[in-house]
Amino acid sequence: PGDIAHPVCVGLEVAGTGATVPAASGWPDALFAHDGQITKRPVRALALSALAPRPGEHLWDIGGGSGSVSIEWLGCHPAMQATAIEADPARVARIRANADALGADRLRVVEGRAPEALDDLAPPQAVFIGGGLSEALLSDLWVRLAPGTRLVAHAVTLESEALLARWHGAEGGSLLRIDLAEAQPLGRKRGWRAAYPVVQWSVTR
Ligand code: SAH
Repeated sequence: PGDIAHPVCVGLEVAGTGATVPAASGWPDALFAHDGQITKRPVRALALSALAPRPGEHLWDIGGGSGSVSIEWLGCHPAMQATAIEADPARVARIRANADALGADRLRVVEGRAPEALDDLAPPQAVFIGGGLSEALLSDLWVRLAPGTRLVAHAVTLESEALLARWHGAEGGSLLRIDLAEAQPLGRKRGWRAAYPVVQWSVTR
């Protein structure tokens, strides 16, 4: 049921700034205050696509950073719910400020380390791991999450990539390597500046 031609809310102006929030996933990085630890726009769009938000669902955003993934998730539909879990107090404050600036009033921010900080949270339908990836975290989630929960994890280091490769081998799902490069000035011409590859594992528990 519903309007398949208009499944997502429309773009909105950010109060007082003249900036506009696009209707599609992959909002501009400039909409979020951050200290460099942010899932950048094209990679974030692929994260949201893999998380596959449906109206009313609850996301755990583990390693919330700037809150960009949670805030975009909430922007998908007025009934979305999200909890960002972030260990660093300065980033917790930044997540709150970004949520306020973008009207994401359904975001709960928990200061603490996953997996311990997950104990009292309402169960999610989708989980994003943008930080804190470890064997202990994946093993804990595998027990804690209800069957049917969607899990999307991003890895940048060789060590966390190896972890995801092992879990993909054991549990299936899809493993994607995202290699992006952006044109940058190179002397008086331009060249491709490669970003670190991001490995994305998405799986349904
Ligand atoms: N997706 C975020 C960026 C994540 S950066 C964004 O788009 O803004 C990774 C974050 O994970 C950092 O802020 C770091 O403080 C946090 N982190 C690392 N280990 C953690 C853990 N065990 N529990 C909670 N947060 C953690």
